[in-house]
Amino acid sequence: MRVGVFGGTFDPIHVGHLIVAEEARVSLELDEVLFVTAGQPWLKESRKITEGRHRMAMVERAVESNANFRSSDVEINRPGPTYTVDTLAEMRHNLGQRATLYLILGLDSFRELHRWHHPERLFQMCKMVGVSRPGSQDLDLRALDDITPGASAGVTLLETPLIGVSAADIRRRLSEGMSIKYQVPECVEDYIYEHGLYRNHTVSGSSLSKEDSPR
Ligand code: ATP
Repeated sequence: MRVGVFGGTFDPIHVGHLIVAEEARVSLELDEVLFVTAGQPWLKESRKITEGRHRMAMVERAVESNANFRSSDVEINRPGPTYTVDTLAEMRHNLGQRATLYLILGLDSFRELHRWHHPERLFQMCKMVGVSRPGSQDLDLRALDDITPGASAGVTLLETPLIGVSAADIRRRLSEGMSIKYQVPECVEDYIYEHGLYRNHTVSGSSLSKEDSPR
């Protein structure tokens, strides 16, 4: 069994995530892609992260229409900071030795990999896959060899469509009352408005509901 593991803060999940995950699924002939919503992403502690139950609910809705996508709660349910090495160990335990795990990362994430918890172990626990992201095309993977010799040679690079959508920009747009239509699946957009997420009370001093949302 070939399993893709696509982790993220998903605050919120957007079409960039979904498109590259589907490209990876097809290119690598994965049986499924697990979307793993981060519990406490310790490298993003400088900003307030939306409650895990909301981020995961959006992921669940977003992946529902793809029979090969699945939402995983392993990180949300684990107390303490979220470390990918722990997630991969848990998945290995659950799926058994016959599963091949592919960790899917946007190329920008490789820049930060040396700051992750035991990054050298990632290269032993799974196959590493890089997907394109605007702004990171020129990344030199050889820096990974400082983490563990030969690491860069083990990364599979996929040329996926460049989707210039980011969760940070979506949050900014929502706080400014701008439209996010087509940047997230409609079910995610509905969820955001229904729960009043990302408003930050900056929209004309009034609350933005589904009815008066910028659609
Ligand atoms: P933020 O903007 O809040 O930092 P993000 O979208 O960069 O969010 P995550 O939600 O944690 O961060 O992203 C999960 C994974 O998806 C990461 O590996 C990231 O590199 C990748 N990713 C995010 N957006 C894109 C995109 N538009 N194209 C390709 N990969 C992406």
